[in-house]
Amino acid sequence: MTEKVVIIGSGPAGLTAAVYNARADLDPLMIEGMERGGQLMLTTDVENYPGFPDGIMGPELMESFRKQAERFGTRIMTSDVTRVDFSARPFSIWVDEDLYEAESVIISTGASARWLGLESESKLRGHGVSACATCDGFFFRDKEIAVVGGGDSAAEEALFLTKFASKIYVIHRRDELRASKIMANRVLEHEKIEMVWNTVVDEVLGDGVVTGLKLRDVQTGDVSELPVEGMFLAIGHTPNTKVFEGQIDLDEKGYIVLPGENTMTSVPGVFAAGDVTDHVYRQAVTAAGMGCQAALDAERWLDEQEG
Ligand code: NAP
Repeated sequence: MTEKVVIIGSGPAGLTAAVYNARADLDPLMIEGMERGGQLMLTTDVENYPGFPDGIMGPELMESFRKQAERFGTRIMTSDVTRVDFSARPFSIWVDEDLYEAESVIISTGASARWLGLESESKLRGHGVSACATCDGFFFRDKEIAVVGGGDSAAEEALFLTKFASKIYVIHRRDELRASKIMANRVLEHEKIEMVWNTVVDEVLGDGVVTGLKLRDVQTGDVSELPVEGMFLAIGHTPNTKVFEGQIDLDEKGYIVLPGENTMTSVPGVFAAGDVTDHVYRQAVTAAGMGCQAALDAERWLDEQEG
């Protein structure tokens, strides 16, 4: 059986596309990925998603998205796509050995946290090194820890971690935060948070567990050691497009290129929405909006093929 639409990925973009395509009777199949729900599953309070004046927890919001998609008949598979072939129609999508064929595809695989790339960092991942404060913050009660980064994620993680840690150093490579004013001010004014400006991490110290960080001042070159028991990374994200390499056009950072004025990729019939293609706005609400656009674009494109 050839599916009309296969949606790959299940963050706000994919699930919104599913709601729209399901309501349009396209009977979408969603391959949601093993990390279902996307980045909001790793967030605590979402205060800026319209319609929730008191805020909502990220996982709760994604569960509601999912229920709404299922209510209209979206079929959801909890698997990762392992290979695709978009060179001929119907498009081919594999989950291991299983082949799914589709007249159209919506890619909404999002982006994942970036790491510094240090050997000591990967060795101590899960033993004091983390990219998810929501997941691991609890383990750092009354401990001194560091957050690396200067954007909204770093600010959010640092503020969240104040619930547990006794002290948080925010290590930023410049002398000014990239985070929005409101978040930056909350960080700068928080009594448990101390900024470490113009500084990078050269090494994570510790044998088995994190005991400190080797820091370098990028202006003076001075090297120092900071005794902390945890390091949280919040230095941005990489788009999840590995499986699409060579199949559709990606930019130099790996984001999906949308060559026209809608959500169609370089392959007609393949659409993209959310963080996998948007490195500018990257918000749940913009991803959801784009998911809606991709669903409508796919629907129109399918109509044109039939007409
Ligand atoms: P981001 O805005 O790209 O910030 C990444 C930060 O990490 C920057 O401060 C950057 O430094 C630093 N950085 C990058 N690579 C580094 C490296 N190798 N070593 C050291 N530092 C490095 O990413 P983000 O904070 O994840 O935010 C992404 C988007 O999501 C943004 O649009 C943000 O507004 C949004 N967001 C919003 C909220 C909210 O509204 N509550 C929460 C989280 C995220 P430079 O500043 O020097 O480039």
